[in-house]
This record gives sequence, C-alpha cells and structure tokens, in this order.
Amino acid sequence: MAKKLVLIVIDGLTPAMLERAVESDDTPALRFLMNEGEYRRAVTTFPSLTPVCLSSIATGGHPDVHEIPHLVWYHRGEKRLVEYGSSFGAVRAAGTARTIRDVVFNLNEEHLSRSATTVFEALEAAGLVSGAVNMVCYRGPKRHAPLVPWLHRPAYGPSRFFYFNLFESDVTGAPLAVRTRARGSVDEYARMVGRWLVTRDGFDFLVFYLPDYDFASHAAGPEAAHAALAHADRAIVSLLEAAGGPDEFLERYDVLLCSDHGQTRVESAQRLQDAFAGLTLFHRGNGRPAQLAVTASNRAGMVYRLPGCPETAPELAQRLDGRGHVVLFREEDQAVARLDGTELRFAPSAGGWETTGDAAVLSQPDALERVWAALANPNAGDLIVSAAPGVEFADLGGRHHAGGGSHGSLEQGDSEVPMISVGAGPPPARTIDVAPRVLEQLGVTDGR
Ligand SMILES: [Zn+2]
Repeated sequence: MAKKLVLIVIDGLTPAMLERAVESDDTPALRFLMNEGEYRRAVTTFPSLTPVCLSSIATGGHPDVHEIPHLVWYHRGEKRLVEYGSSFGAVRAAGTARTIRDVVFNLNEEHLSRSATTVFEALEAAGLVSGAVNMVCYRGPKRHAPLVPWLHRPAYGPSRFFYFNLFESDVTGAPLAVRTRARGSVDEYARMVGRWLVTRDGFDFLVFYLPDYDFASHAAGPEAAHAALAHADRAIVSLLEAAGGPDEFLERYDVLLCSDHGQTRVESAQRLQDAFAGLTLFHRGNGRPAQLAVTASNRAGMVYRLPGCPETAPELAQRLDGRGHVVLFREEDQAVARLDGTELRFAPSAGGWETTGDAAVLSQPDALERVWAALANPNAGDLIVSAAPGVEFADLGGRHHAGGGSHGSLEQGDSEVPMISVGAGPPPARTIDVAPRVLEQLGVTDGR
C-alpha cells in the first residue's frame, strides 16, 4: 500500500533562502525534511506569478494546458480585465467584488481550462480523499457551501477543502484567516487546519499552501524575510507534532516541498503602459473603444491587440527596445523573443527546438519550453513582456515593490524554486512534474 502524501508549498521561497535557513535553529521542520529527503533546485512555469504557478502545480501543465495567463489579464471574450489581487490598490481599480468573484470562483470554474485535470480531480475520481488548505487552484468534484453570507455560490473542490475561512469542509475551530496579513495570520490558519487534518489522518493527499512568506519577502526583499520563514516552519512543525512527532509523521506520509516561484530584488518601477503612447488603451469604465489592452503586475506584462489596433505585434515589440525587457510574441509558426532589437526565433522540432538568431536572448532556465507554452495560452496577450533585471511593472493601482522583492519574469531568480522529496522519489526538476509524481506515488493512473 502506497503511503499518503503531503505537498507543502511555501509561496515565494527561493532556493538560496531555504539552503541557508536549514543551517539555523529557526526552521527545525525544514531542516528535518531536508536531512531526511533529497533536495534539488527546480524550475517553475512562466509568467512566474502565483495563480499561474499554482495552476501548474495543480494540473501538471504549463499555461498552454491550464490557460491561467497572469495575475492580471484581459478577457477577450468578456472584453474586461481579470485581476486576481496584485495589491489592494489594484483590486480597488479592478473592482473589489469582481476581483473576489474572479479569484475565488472564476479562476477555477471558468478560467482554468476544462481540458486540464487537477490533481484533486484525478485522485477523487480514483476514490481517494484529497485535501487543500488555502490552495488557489483547487478545482475538484465536491460541492462546498460558503461560510460567509456575502458569497452566494458554492465552490467545487476536493473532499477536504479549506479556503481562507470562506469555505471549510469540516469544523476545525481555526481562527479567522484574513485579518492582519503582515503578522502571518493566513499561515496561522493553515497551521490550525493542518494540525486538525493530520490528527485525524483525514486524507490521502494534502496540499498545504503557506502564502505569508511571499508577502513578507515582497516587502523585505528576497532572502531577508527570516521571521516569516520561521513562521511557515512553525506551521510545518504543527503537522509533524499532530502525527506524534517527525518520525511518526514520515511513517505515515511521503512529503514533497517546494515553492511556486522565486523572487529577485527590484530597484525601480515602470508603467508598461507608457511605452504605447499614441494608442488608445483599454481602461475599465471609460467606455471608449480601445486599440490595446496592457496588463502588468510584478515582473511580467501582457499586451493585447484589440480590433482596430494599427500596429502589428513586431511593431509593438519595437516600442520596448532599449528597456532591457525580453518581449515575446508569435509570428506565424515561430515564437520570437526580442531584447533591445536582437531577436531569437524558435519553434519545436522533432526531438528539440529549431532556432535562428541570437541564443543569448533566452538564456534563462527552460526558457524555450516555458515561453512557447506561455504564448500558446489562448488567454495570453499578443505580446508577453518579461521585465529587465531589477525592474518591476506598476500594477493597475500604481503599486509596486521597488526596494523590495518581486517575481514574474523568466530570470533565474524568479524561476528557480527549492524542491525537497522525502520518500516521493527523486525531487522533480520542474514544478509541472509535481502533479504526475503525486498520482504515480499514490498509484493512480494519470487520466490526462
Ligand atoms: Zn508574490
């Protein structure tokens, strides 16, 4: 009989931070898992932003499979912006009620491709009990009624489903999650729920998602949020203790631990929109026919050509020359990556990639594969912009993290994640390999 499996995801944790942290006494649970398991640095998807990355972890596919393109994007069918919560300012700009509907319900029910299969769907279809704590990409077969009166629809998730106090499949007594984010209240909620679940051994597979580290690291900068990581560690300690101790925990469960993306230091912020002077940009509520929609947040941007746009994708890309960004677009059956006038063109070919141009434009980890998949997403912009090192794009509300940390680009620091496997085989090299590994470990044939 296969062991049960716990997948721990610490949002925004860089490999360097984890590698250093396990040398200290502040993170005993991480040190224990590192010592008991195997470790490597792995690569996440692109754009390296949480909704995209967690959807890749849940489905085992890049954005061409799950179709979640960015933290903020233009919905061509509904002719509107979708904002999953770049900042409170961006949420206000996009409309608070709409953002809540988009991130809580629509991401899973409408935006996440029907042809993708989540790990929860695959496991539950095989008769196993899956669970998710605060996991943003949660789609599953079980109906859960909302716990708050202002949400009027059920959510469909795994059997054991805990989502920021908005949905709870079981009464655990955990406190309200969304209170004072900076003090780690979301991870505290996860800690209480996780302890309850492990005490009852109430699942075959659990995603235990800890978002507070990313929040702290955006403010402090990468590799500086030690207190937040110690807090995440305490949540994991509670899981181990709930099983009767670390060794007892590993007798019952295999463990995979990773982050969804890395972080890099950002020194300055730009408005990506400013590069498109002279064109009419889509703006919520102004009602004017627009030629272009530009959605940017953190270190990635999307540019959507709307009907009547007078410039082609290559012409729009040229406008960004001289800024150090990598601009990505499709031209016929090739993908083009442009960096300040230098281009690399590529397309998949038998057994690899056919490339022409300057290979140095895309030297980042797994760049060809990740760019191709990001551009093949029907919800992506006609252009995708991977920000220059040290640069962040201001979001809809004008907010940014200059002086702190950010992520979203193809760069190594944004893209690399730590990956620990304790008993779940060699640590996966990519975050898209996590979901297939979970199914394999639990003896479920992948129905995808
Ligand atoms: Zn983040």
